[in-house]
Amino acid sequence: MERVKCLIIGSGPAGYTAGIYAARANLHPVLYEGLQVGGQLTTTTVIENYPGYPEGIDANEMMEQLRSQALRFGTDIRSGSVSSVDLHTRPFRLIIDGKEELEADSLIIATGATARYLGLDDEQKYRGKGVSVCATCDGFFFRKKKVAVVGGGDTACEEALYLSQLCEKVYLIVRKNYLRASDIMKKRVAEKDNIEVLFEYNTTGLFGEQKLEGAHLVYKKGEKDEENRDLPIDGFFLAIGHTPNTSLFKGQIELDENGYIVTDGITTLTSVEGVFAAGDVADPRYQQAITAAASGCKAAIDAEQFLNNIN
Ligand code: NDP
Repeated sequence: MERVKCLIIGSGPAGYTAGIYAARANLHPVLYEGLQVGGQLTTTTVIENYPGYPEGIDANEMMEQLRSQALRFGTDIRSGSVSSVDLHTRPFRLIIDGKEELEADSLIIATGATARYLGLDDEQKYRGKGVSVCATCDGFFFRKKKVAVVGGGDTACEEALYLSQLCEKVYLIVRKNYLRASDIMKKRVAEKDNIEVLFEYNTTGLFGEQKLEGAHLVYKKGEKDEENRDLPIDGFFLAIGHTPNTSLFKGQIELDENGYIVTDGITTLTSVEGVFAAGDVADPRYQQAITAAASGCKAAIDAEQFLNNIN
């Protein structure tokens, strides 16, 4: 069975940065990219807040550059997903794509987080027929149409702004009476004539014959029936936060109440010796590309130190 010194799971900024540092430290890292190569950033448009790009950079291009940098130093980047993991004994045992087995002396988990749905049955019914979690991926299909974005954070504003360039009208459905997003995003949204913010509305269902035709909205949790409305829309975009991708590790490693991996203080050490966590999977608070990259660097340094100590 193949045995690797340092195995990295995930190909977002955390995973690739861990690869760059681990390769330069001669740990011969093997990195499995998972299903979404390049991670969540590849579902967004332009990155404006990553230091070093004064004019911003296309998210896919940035991830391609991080990948090339990891490759350049010798990270063995492989396509495939880890389907199961046994952290009870070391070396750790992993199964790739349900068949290939391998062992790892150290593991860096950088599996990120996944976009959340509201939990309505209708969301699944109209998935691919009007419901989406990615404006960049699907916005094109709604040119000159009416769409809604759910959420009040930076992602929701970013999605609404992106869609406002393509669509006739964009509704931003916000459950509170304010936007949680940063001031600059709020200002940009306010300046767009074709974005209308619907404060204190919740979506209770979707409707449409073959494809989505609208959403049932309830005002202030149904307090005022006369304010409830059926909003005619062709597209319904969710931007309500994320769930950490930790199902593989449940029961084997300490997770917090929301499923994020718990790390020790400022380090990337987890409750299992030899396992390190980097990026959004262990960060319910910041969830930025730059903080994910930084923790990928820390994880590689922590793994190096761990491997030096056991050898
Ligand atoms: P956030 O957690 O910041 O926001 C989630 C939003 O969804 C909140 O407004 C929340 O409402 C709402 N929400 C959650 N659940 C529901 C629900 N069931 N029904 C209706 N609304 C719901 O997530 P984001 O993805 O927006 O941002 C994550 C992080 O990434 C943040 O730190 C953000 O600043 C950053 N980011 C930065 C960007 C940039 O700088 N360009 C771009 C995108 C993200 P409520 O407020 O009521 O809790």
